[in-house]
Amino acid sequence: MPVHDVVIVGGGGAGLRAAIAVAEKNPSLSIALVSKVYPMRSHTVAAEGGAAAVIKDFDSFENHIYDTISGGDWLVDQDAIELFVKEAPNEMIQMEHWGCPWSREPDGTVAVRPFGGMKKERTWFASDKTGFHMLHTLFQTSLKYSSIVPYDEWFATKLLVEDGRCQGVAALDLRTGRLEVIAGRSVVICTGGAGKVFPFTTNGAIKTGDGMSLAYRARVPLKDMEFVQYHPTGLPGTGILITEAARGEGGILVNSEGYRYLQDYDLGTPLDVTDPNHPVKKSMELGPRDRLSQAFIHEQKKGRTIKGKFGDVLHLDVRHLGEKRIDSKIPFVRELAKKYAGIDPVYEPIPIRPVLHYFMGGIDTDITGATTLPGLYAAGEVACVSINGANRLGSNSLTELLVFGARAGLAAADFALNQPPVDLAPLRKQVVDEDARITRAYLTKSGGTERISTIRTEMRDTMEEGAGIYRTDEGLKATCDKLAELRERFANISLDDRSFTYNTELISVLELDAMLDVAEVVAHSALARKESRGSHQRTDFPKRDDESYLRHSMAYRGEGSPRIDYKDVVITRWPPGERVYGQEQSK
Ligand SMILES: Cc1cc2nc3c(=O)[nH]c(=O)nc-3n(C[C@H](O)[C@H](O)[C@H](O)COP(=O)(O)OP(=O)(O)OC[C@H]3O[C@@H](n4cnc5c(N)ncnc54)[C@H](O)[C@@H]3O)c2cc1C
Repeated sequence: MPVHDVVIVGGGGAGLRAAIAVAEKNPSLSIALVSKVYPMRSHTVAAEGGAAAVIKDFDSFENHIYDTISGGDWLVDQDAIELFVKEAPNEMIQMEHWGCPWSREPDGTVAVRPFGGMKKERTWFASDKTGFHMLHTLFQTSLKYSSIVPYDEWFATKLLVEDGRCQGVAALDLRTGRLEVIAGRSVVICTGGAGKVFPFTTNGAIKTGDGMSLAYRARVPLKDMEFVQYHPTGLPGTGILITEAARGEGGILVNSEGYRYLQDYDLGTPLDVTDPNHPVKKSMELGPRDRLSQAFIHEQKKGRTIKGKFGDVLHLDVRHLGEKRIDSKIPFVRELAKKYAGIDPVYEPIPIRPVLHYFMGGIDTDITGATTLPGLYAAGEVACVSINGANRLGSNSLTELLVFGARAGLAAADFALNQPPVDLAPLRKQVVDEDARITRAYLTKSGGTERISTIRTEMRDTMEEGAGIYRTDEGLKATCDKLAELRERFANISLDDRSFTYNTELISVLELDAMLDVAEVVAHSALARKESRGSHQRTDFPKRDDESYLRHSMAYRGEGSPRIDYKDVVITRWPPGERVYGQEQSK
């Protein structure tokens, strides 16, 4: 019988960490771990560069907090970042005890590398396959607990809300095509981001914003959704990420003239690297990602990019690091460049361009992971707590999965322990209705003329055109209109596959449905924010406007377009200031 105490949707880093937290808190609690793919295929596995936490004597909590707040252009909630930074080292050491093979300095201590926007080296890594090792560690640890019941290849389609509380999900078993209740006295959403809303992304195919849409449809607000991060160094064509670690290890960015163009842009003072053996002493390449991605567009306008097979590119040059350092510190970069760009970075520069990488926004939660809907929690990339503000610093996200995955798990366990047992009957009725909706819309309908791939491609193109690195009122309005048109056309969609066993076309249409929700919220939130901050750059409103917009945007599902409201940013000890990086802060 699918009745549990806590239902966790998502088997990535956040979901597994949450599940372990519940299991450790109280062995009598039954935990459902629902994942649309086998957990080791979650996107966390793709993370390369590392996870940030203060560990060295030359660093401090204050530094990590301040770097993150200024990197996020003051849209970061300061209570959240303070506890995050303080809890991070313990979580990372816990990972070590569970078996995560952190790379080491020659003296045996944990090694750290510099990362973009971080003033000091504080990024722990496991070679350049950090996410792989972290996910493995969490997955194998989760297997120790028999109270964690896996639902691998089950797709959640709806949150079940009864008596004003979230009490489970409707989920499709991919093997049989049956829609079932998976009930619990609390639910944690850990479904990751939504990079696939854009055409050109580092994100895996499964990152379609399902969890954001599930919450939004249950009338839970989505926060700061206009803030989407472009990573400055993706491979052209595939969008495959060349990790920031390549720059952390000393890689430099050059334009068509072989010139280190970043010196022409306002990135703050270059980072002074502490390591005396580092190949680059001052690294402007480690500026924040939003600024580096924007610099690409300016170089393009100046005609200083290089024409490639897949459009304009710039070069990431790591040749001066030498074969030995490349092979020991960033071997995966060499492997990817050889396989997917056809060049060996030991001898040639790597062609790169900005690609959509990460969603700073997500389901609005407090510092325990609780949402506005009782019984519903969220953590990981799907959530916005918010420690990333208007621009995430690389390597904070993997640590966020641990700190807030654990917190959300504990809070969901506490909530579950204080609720009466679940009454299945009304939940079953909701699932019967949901099943009828899906069957009617996709499996028995005849005469539909629209194709999934057409609507998906048009959605992605309009997002890139109107809601990409630079935005305007006119462009955003056009994108909002186009998305409304696509939503209408979506009602007329037709599937070829009407079968029940592993119907991947059905999954694709459910994912597209979710992506249309997310795209609409991003575009409308961006249209409403008439200022430039972090990754949200409006050429018609080029200045940051703290007076009107030092606030989180909150998107609520309305009858037509989303309704956008605002909520104050939590400011405790760090008043808003000029955004500089690589400098000692005044306080
Ligand atoms: C290429 C790449 C490299 C990165 N490198 C770094 C890095 O070096 N450092 C860093 O800090 N961050 C990095 N990031 C970001 C970071 O890896 C992600 O933000 C993070 O791993 C997301 O973890 P998550 O647990 O929230 O979600 P994911 O790992 O994406 O897991 C989502 C889970 O939800 C499940 N799911 C989704 N929808 C449904 C549904 N409808 N029903 C059931 N299950 C569902 C999936 O099956 C999956 O198990 C990188 C990201 C990418 C794409």
